[in-house]
Amino acid sequence: MTAAACQHISAITKPRMPRKHECEECVKIGSDWVHLRTCQTCGATLCCDSSPNRHASKHARSAGHAVIASAEPGERWLYCFPDDAFAESRRPRIPGVFEEGATQAAGMPRPGLMSRTTVTGH
Ligand SMILES: [Zn+2]
Ligand SMILES: [Zn+2]
Ligand SMILES: [Zn+2]
Repeated sequence: MTAAACQHISAITKPRMPRKHECEECVKIGSDWVHLRTCQTCGATLCCDSSPNRHASKHARSAGHAVIASAEPGERWLYCFPDDAFAESRRPRIPGVFEEGATQAAGMPRPGLMSRTTVTGH
């Protein structure tokens, strides 16, 4: 988890976050999307390969921008198209990374750490 997946991803110290939670291209053509990704080169938020238009991968190819990050709430990963490299960023070392615009508003989901409030006193 410490080793960077590729040099593109390792060059990213502060991942870009989506400005809006919508695919910029799908909005223009009135289409739908499934998941959103944010280009780490220019900050464009586009739809994933499960979406009908696959704007994120099209953008990566046409613009030559290598790395995207998930723009989905609770997902923290980076993907590099040319290297087919995937990196999880669950615990960013730099405070504030991934936290821009997404403060504790919704309460952070913590998989595997169910809050047990059923502790009876003894
Ligand atoms: Zn790469
Ligand atoms: Zn799209
Ligand atoms: Zn881009």
